[in-house]
Amino acid sequence: MTTTIDSTATERPHKAQKRYIYAWGDGAAEGNAQMRDLLGGKGAGLAEMTIAGLPTPPGFTITTEACNDYFANGEQLPGGLWDDVLEAVKEVERRTGKGFGDASNPLLVSVRSGAKFSMPGMMDTVLNLGLNGDTLHGLIALTNNERFGWDAYRRFIQMFGRIVMEVSGERFDHALEASKEAHGAKQDTDLDAAALRDLVDEFKAIVKADTGRDFPDDPYEQLDLAIKAVFASWFGKRARDYRKNQQIPDDLGTAVNVVTMVFGNMGDDSGTGVAFTRDPNTGAKVLFGEYLTNAQGEDVVAGIRTAPKIAQMQTDMPDVYAEFQRIGQQLETHYRDVQDLEFTIERGRLYMLQTRSAKRTAAAAVRIAADMVDEGVITKAEAIARIEPAHVDQLLRDTFDQGALKQATKIVNGLNASPGAAVGRAVFDADTAVEWVNNGEKVILVRIETSPDDFHGMAVAQGIITARGGATSHAAVVARQIGKPCVAGSADLAVDYAGKQAHCSVTGTEFKEGDWVSLDGSTGALYMGALPTVSARFEDQPELQKVLKWADEIRRMGVWTNADKPEEAAQARSYGAEGIGLCRTEHMFREGDRLEIVRGAILVANQATRAKAKEAAAETLSADELDSIATFDSAMAKLEQLQQGDFEGIFKAMDGLPVVIRLIDPPLHEFLPNLEDQLVKVTRAEATGGASEEDKQLLAAIKSMHEQNPMLGLRGCRLGLMIPDFVKIQTRAILNAQIAVRKAGGNPIAKIMIPLVGHVNELSRTREILEAEAKPIEDAAGVEVDYKFGTMIEVPRGALTADEIARDAAFFSFGTNDLTQMTFGYSRDDAEGGFLLKYVEDGILPVNPFQTLDDAVAGLMKVAVDKGRATRPELEIGICGEHGGDPASIMKCEKLGLDYVSCSPFRVPVARLAAAQAALTSAAERDK
Ligand code: PEP
Ligand code: MG
Repeated sequence: MTTTIDSTATERPHKAQKRYIYAWGDGAAEGNAQMRDLLGGKGAGLAEMTIAGLPTPPGFTITTEACNDYFANGEQLPGGLWDDVLEAVKEVERRTGKGFGDASNPLLVSVRSGAKFSMPGMMDTVLNLGLNGDTLHGLIALTNNERFGWDAYRRFIQMFGRIVMEVSGERFDHALEASKEAHGAKQDTDLDAAALRDLVDEFKAIVKADTGRDFPDDPYEQLDLAIKAVFASWFGKRARDYRKNQQIPDDLGTAVNVVTMVFGNMGDDSGTGVAFTRDPNTGAKVLFGEYLTNAQGEDVVAGIRTAPKIAQMQTDMPDVYAEFQRIGQQLETHYRDVQDLEFTIERGRLYMLQTRSAKRTAAAAVRIAADMVDEGVITKAEAIARIEPAHVDQLLRDTFDQGALKQATKIVNGLNASPGAAVGRAVFDADTAVEWVNNGEKVILVRIETSPDDFHGMAVAQGIITARGGATSHAAVVARQIGKPCVAGSADLAVDYAGKQAHCSVTGTEFKEGDWVSLDGSTGALYMGALPTVSARFEDQPELQKVLKWADEIRRMGVWTNADKPEEAAQARSYGAEGIGLCRTEHMFREGDRLEIVRGAILVANQATRAKAKEAAAETLSADELDSIATFDSAMAKLEQLQQGDFEGIFKAMDGLPVVIRLIDPPLHEFLPNLEDQLVKVTRAEATGGASEEDKQLLAAIKSMHEQNPMLGLRGCRLGLMIPDFVKIQTRAILNAQIAVRKAGGNPIAKIMIPLVGHVNELSRTREILEAEAKPIEDAAGVEVDYKFGTMIEVPRGALTADEIARDAAFFSFGTNDLTQMTFGYSRDDAEGGFLLKYVEDGILPVNPFQTLDDAVAGLMKVAVDKGRATRPELEIGICGEHGGDPASIMKCEKLGLDYVSCSPFRVPVARLAAAQAALTSAAERDK
């Protein structure tokens, strides 16, 4: 069927059912920057640059929709698309005045992938397409440069052979290396026309031998195959791996850009490069990048020749440099963001091939965002939206201890391609990296240079070092993006893959597979051994603090912290925590000799509690019973005193801010001596003369309390209800600490929280015990102690009956660790070490629900929020499970209308940013 639509500025006739093609050239374009979904980043950028009047080579984009339809169609081009491609080629011919396949004036094109999100080097590109024996001679005649022509042809066969015809790239590399050796050529550019002509023959023979087919001469056949190959690369292994790592959906598809070739390898007045409008490492406002004269784009990216810095262009071609600088500025202003630019200079004429938002390090992201707000380019809200939560996380990453660094043996220097300190054992290939990491090792990946095939190894390594390539090489770009420290272009590092070792050709220092090495991506150096690291200091990062203050102005939810000790509380407060959302009091019981005291108490607790009940009923107690009460009370008194001290410390550290103290919630097995150990001890002793009475009694006590599943056993409020003294001493410790701190002039704000409530009666009974204990303390002190009483919602039944529970609770805090465990029925102690990660790997679950809040768990939370607030509209609600520090989960908390999130101290800065982003997203959705 032929569908013809009138050609207007935005429409073009097409034979395919859908419009799959958008062309540009001569200052006009059918697409624009807003069409990234359909045209991919590259296609949208080329269209937008053309509209902006910048020099771009004419071409057209085949849409991402065509890619998806190609796959839906059983890997066939949708009907009519090829006719539309032919029309578009004609248009490019018109615009360039050249003919595709025309021997006297040949049009050559590049066929480039380009998805919505940039996937550096993950998909395929073919250059110089359209060359064959005839057009080659036309190219040579036109350029009057035989060497250039043959070089373009051998590159084309090499690229097309590898990418489209799937010939092993190494076979071409070997032939090229052999030719260089035979001709005494150091670099590719040293090969003359005759040598290149021979190489063309050799390459064609390789193709024939490998595929059983002749290399295709027909430019249209070449184009057809190349378009399909680019589509196919969307589902190539490295692209799939990359998308999985970056959480890019599979159904976006890639566009294909067919672009008129311009040549950077036409002599010394030609060149090609990659540059950023600001330094992507530091964020400094200087043009940053590399370029090579007499070269094609792939030479820069692959690091085949080490490229000079872009500033060199100012000397080599001052006019072009000035124009490039002006264009860079124009694009940055236009897109209101730092741009990553690809360009080619053909005989002194500049062409822009790509513009996209630049990938940047965490430090650069924060600095650029802060600077652009100061420059009036973007708003604070935009600045916040642009910084990734992972960036904040990286800025709080470790660096090396400077003292240790001075003493360390340096192996080699290189380019500081991606900052951070990494320590691991050296491995020399990506598969080994993955294997070792799966066995629990930390590794540093050492490569001569990386290619997209190494991505899986880079993703698991602590850091990456390469011998070749610059700041825009594959290793550098990818490492920066995935936040791994990287040293690139360590030219003195001789890497021996076969021998699995490397050495510095200057100092001779060597290391082999398995040796510990330390990599400093901030300075660009590799050291022997595992050097100690120091944590990054938030205090030293004023720009980060500045943007987080903006985040604080924007966010609705509070950011609190989970802290059990005064030092942790102080640290979290310095990171901006506005309260403690969870103080796990049982963690305090594990410190030093406290564990022994707690054990002593727990072991006699049941007996003592029963005895106390008899005492209350005025029954006579046996000596044993009296003894158990004495042992129990003495242990509990010690604990009370110790805890009061702990709480005073925390109240002081959080002076004026709320502190949610959770009453004891220990799975009993964490405090009891190990049953098996005790059993072995007693059995052995019995076999060799008899065990002591004490050991036997201990064994009996442990057995009586042993639970098959302690995580679902006598935990949380259940323990407090069975052994009320725990509630009593903790209440006394909290209130007395509050009174003491207030007397000393402080402002303690206490909230007492009851864990693991599933039935309202659990809460109301606990409350009775607590209030009965509070009264005498208030009377004795002669003051009313102000505290709030609330509960965790972490048992599904608790969530479902939140309306009843809210009658007794002034606040809720979601314990999403337990809520996830109980909603899924997965043991939180066992699942992650067992099937769960495999579930995620196999796609049975989209994410690990213990890391990112699951929607069904969030659904239960919603029920609890609605029911709780129906009973008590002013109910304060937060989250203190691990999800409170996870950006994706924070987004869900915003939607649920929680009042605050609480997370570990180191995640507080990330949570501040994520909470602000969540507020912005919610506002945008409301506006829609
Ligand atoms: C929770 O269950 O989410 C929680 C915060 O409590 P804990 O991890 O101590 O069980
Ligand atoms: Mg819990």
